[in-house]
Amino acid sequence: MTSVKDNIMSQVAETLPSAGNKITIVGIGQVGMACAFSILAQNVSNEICLIDVCEDKLIGEMMDLQHGSNFLKNPKITASTDYAASAGSRLCIVTAGVRQKEGETRLSLVQRNTDILKHIIPKLVANSPDTILLMVSNPVDVMTYVAWKLSGLPKNRVIGSGTNLDSSRFRFLMSQRLNVAPTSCHGWIIGEHGDSSVPVWSGVNIAGVRLRELNPTIGTSDDPEKWNELHKQVVNSAYEVIKLKGYTSWAIGLSVASLTSAILKNYSSVVAVSTSVMGEHGIDKDVFLSLPCVLNSNGVTSIVKQILTPTEIEQLQNSANVMDQVQAGLKF
Ligand code: NAD
Repeated sequence: MTSVKDNIMSQVAETLPSAGNKITIVGIGQVGMACAFSILAQNVSNEICLIDVCEDKLIGEMMDLQHGSNFLKNPKITASTDYAASAGSRLCIVTAGVRQKEGETRLSLVQRNTDILKHIIPKLVANSPDTILLMVSNPVDVMTYVAWKLSGLPKNRVIGSGTNLDSSRFRFLMSQRLNVAPTSCHGWIIGEHGDSSVPVWSGVNIAGVRLRELNPTIGTSDDPEKWNELHKQVVNSAYEVIKLKGYTSWAIGLSVASLTSAILKNYSSVVAVSTSVMGEHGIDKDVFLSLPCVLNSNGVTSIVKQILTPTEIEQLQNSANVMDQVQAGLKF
């Protein structure tokens, strides 16, 4: 007897595999799944491979996403503990590793997550030699440096999610004060994704109107309007959310989906991501930090030369020194 499948339609051609926008996400915890969900819901990619060490959870997460396919654009969703499944990925997003506990700093995770990356990065690159790596695991700037070292890839193809999230947090807080949309609030947080991040107060503007020209003390401790509280809140954001719900997930998921879009769709968007900064703003250390970068399908292709004040440059160089000291203690 022939089957319904054989009889329901006449096949006129083979179905081709999807057009080269495969993504692999390594680590399917809170952050990895928020990234996967944001990417699928926004139709950024229609082929996602999930990798983790935890097999049952992998299958469960894969099935749960697949059951939503009816509401998406028929994405191909696979999951495996075997990196062979990741072969041919244009982008590999790494969220595997330990996260901060309440009150713990990102930098305290450094050696534990370095040890985890030793098992992940070489396998990703072996299966997808042309891939771009997007690092999310913390401390993300050091992990981006570690991934670059372990991968053998050119620096433009190893990127950290960096202060794209911190800048988004800053723009949200600015939007609350001024009652305009975050996308219309132009403010950049650069440097470390973490405690030594640098708010570029000299450039903060709405429609080209610099807030510093209206309030010369903005961002300083002398400011009667206390705008510097916004940056303090940005730095404390993750600590606060972790204290309240145990982890952060949705905002980083959306931030990663936006970076993924820029890469897969070749947007050349300017975004704050962690990249190699040696030689920028007088930095003489081989470290990765966030600066506004042009991001497209070749990874980071340019770094915008922001016109920073001497104080901002000093703070950025301080961020670089912190990273360099942490890297010096790393055991590869
Ligand atoms: P989680 O504990 O929920 O998930 C971590 C996942 O990694 C788990 O599923 C675990 O099984 C997996 N894993 C561990 N070792 C692995 C290995 N060797 N191979 C494959 N998978 C492995 O943690 P989370 O909340 O999802 O956070 C993940 C990371 O993301 C943490 O380092 C956290 O600090 C970081 N993070 C970064 C940002 C950012 O802005 N860059 C924001 C939030 C969280």
